[in-house]
Amino acid sequence: MASVLASGQVTQGPQTDAFERGVAELVGVRGGVAVSSGTVALEVALLGLGIGPGDEVILPTYVCVAPWLAVTRVGATPKLVDIEPRSYNIDPASVRQALSPRTKAVIVPHLFGLPADLTALQSCGVPLIEDCAQTVGAVERGRRVGSVGRATVCSFYATKLLCAGEGGMVLSNDTGLLEQWRALREYDESDRLNPLSYNRKLTDMQAALGLVQVNRFQELARRRAAIAARYGAALGALGLTLPVVPDGRTHVYYRYVVRIPESAGPLDGIIARLEGRGVQCRRPVFRPIHRYLGEAGFPASEEAHARALSLPVYPSLTDAEAASVIQALCEEFR
Ligand SMILES: *Cc1c(COP(=O)(O)O)cnc(C)c1O
Repeated sequence: MASVLASGQVTQGPQTDAFERGVAELVGVRGGVAVSSGTVALEVALLGLGIGPGDEVILPTYVCVAPWLAVTRVGATPKLVDIEPRSYNIDPASVRQALSPRTKAVIVPHLFGLPADLTALQSCGVPLIEDCAQTVGAVERGRRVGSVGRATVCSFYATKLLCAGEGGMVLSNDTGLLEQWRALREYDESDRLNPLSYNRKLTDMQAALGLVQVNRFQELARRRAAIAARYGAALGALGLTLPVVPDGRTHVYYRYVVRIPESAGPLDGIIARLEGRGVQCRRPVFRPIHRYLGEAGFPASEEAHARALSLPVYPSLTDAEAASVIQALCEEFR
C-alpha cells in the first residue's frame, strides 16, 4: 500500500490487474473484475447475465441480506428457499420446488467455509451464481468452489478470508461476460452511453492489501484449519453439534459454527454469558431474510437462527486465545 501511495497512481491500475489475476487463479477461473464490494459484485453479475424485471432469482433465506438486495436492485424477483439443516447451505430439493419458467439463476452462497452441494444444484438446469464471499479454496467433488457456476462473486470486506478493507470481484470463464462486467464498472471511455454503467471501481491501495493475502492464502488457511482442529478435539464432549463436512467436500472454516442443544436455553443468554467470560460469539447470520419480510416457514433456517453459534476463528487468533475460548465454553456447557 505504501508503494502504491508513493507511485502516485492510487485508483484502479496495475495492482488491481494483478489482484484480479491472483484471485482468478486461486478460484480456478479465467478472469475476474474487481469492484467496490461483494454486494456490488452480485449486482454486476446479475446485470451482465441480463437479469432484470420479470425474472426470478432463487436464493436461501439463511444468509446476509446482500444477495436479496442485489436481486431487488436489478428489478428481478427474489425467491427465498430453505437450507439443509446440517450444512447450513442452500437446499437443492427446495430449489427444485421453487423453479419456474421465469427462474433465471440461483445464487449459491457457500456458507461458513463449506461448499454447497454443487452437484445437486447443477442438476436443476439453471445458471448458478456462486457466492464465494465466505468460502475460497474449498473443494466439492474435486472442483474448487467458484469454478463451477456461470458467475462467481467474492467479497474483500474486513472480516472475509481475503481482506482489502472493502471490495469485491465477479469472476467467470466466459470472456464475453468479463468484458460486459468491465464496461459496467466505469462510466468513462465508452463509445455508447450505457445507463447501467456506474462507478463501481476498487482502488490500487485496496488491491495491494488484498494481493498480499492472495500470496499468503495457504498459510492463512492452514492457521484456520489448525484452530478448527483444536476446537473439534476439545468441544465434542460438551454436547455441542460440531460443523459437519459431507463426503466429497472440504471446509476452510471462515466461521466455526456449533449448534447449541435446546436444553442449554436461549442463544441470547449464552452469548451474553460468554461475553462476560471475555469471549465474543455471534449468530453467524444476523437474521434470516424471511424474518425481515414477515414470511413464515423455512424450518431449517429458523432452527439454525435459534441454535447456531459462531466461535472466534481467524488467522491471528493465538493458541492461548483459542484455549481460553475452549475454557469459557467448558464452563458454560459442562
Ligand atoms: C459479506 C457477504 C456478501 C457481501 O459482501 P460485501 O463486500 O460486504 O458487500 C455477500 N454474500 C455473502 C455470503 C457474504 O458473506
